[in-house]
Amino acid sequence: MPDPNRRAQVTAPGEPIPAPPAAAGEAVIPPPPSTLPPLPGPPGAADVPPMPPAADSATPPERRPAAPRGRRPAPLHGSAAAPRRARLMSADAAAGFIRALAQATPDPQTELLYTDPYSLLVAVVLSAQTTDAAVNRATPALFAAAPDPAAMVALGEAGVAAHIRTIGLWQAKARNVVALSRLLLERHGGAVPETREALEALPGVGRKTANVVLNVAFGAETMAVDTHIFRIGNRTGLAPGRTPREVEDRLVKRCPPALLRSAHHWLILHGRYVCKARLPECWRCAARAFCNYRDKVLVAPAR
Ligand code: SF4
Repeated sequence: MPDPNRRAQVTAPGEPIPAPPAAAGEAVIPPPPSTLPPLPGPPGAADVPPMPPAADSATPPERRPAAPRGRRPAPLHGSAAAPRRARLMSADAAAGFIRALAQATPDPQTELLYTDPYSLLVAVVLSAQTTDAAVNRATPALFAAAPDPAAMVALGEAGVAAHIRTIGLWQAKARNVVALSRLLLERHGGAVPETREALEALPGVGRKTANVVLNVAFGAETMAVDTHIFRIGNRTGLAPGRTPREVEDRLVKRCPPALLRSAHHWLILHGRYVCKARLPECWRCAARAFCNYRDKVLVAPAR
């Protein structure tokens, strides 16, 4: 159980992920054009959108431009909405993949700032479909003005909105932050609940946000699948799946138990900085030997 008073950087959804159709009590968050499209999903999956059927492993998700005669076209590496899929890794390779990431980054640094479970919860809610850096620019002043649920309710939607206008979807997020703070006071004495059911009952909190809070604040062995983990699971064959939930379930089964709690940190960082959406940097990838991606980029492009 981490020290709740520690100010630390945590991993949380940093990349835009579209919201699925709103379940009861959840925000309606329209996705920007460059992010995943909303698709039908399980109730409560506000921040974990189901994905469209992926192309089969032999078919790139986008039409390739015609290549000049005699020249092989550059591979398209897929997109957030339709990552390319590789054949399923063996169980041993999957464990090796995670272990290689763990060895490469034994103490993963993550990027959302928080001071306690409440500020973590609010920061994760704010980070939906925006970057952690953008959230971190806004939250210090917000938490200085409203460090707990009672102060946040007193600040009100307009007051919260004034602090987060630089964040995407700030109006809906301001509404959710105040509403969830009010529910924390009414149902939980102002504390952040430690069960998935209670977390997902809060406005703006879906499965992914609950997974982050359960993992980071309460030490649960959960796997919060964001756009990076979804892409890696499919692209590498580590945990192919058509929806974030399929990828999550596979990862939980395949990850060595001792590494499960930290695995989502390693995978998010790997996707953010190495196995990038547009151009995976396979030439410096610690897990390359285990990866089934067919179009590895083994040489860094000339700059
Ligand atoms: S080898 Fe390339 S595609 Fe495979 S995990 Fe590493 S960066 Fe991603």
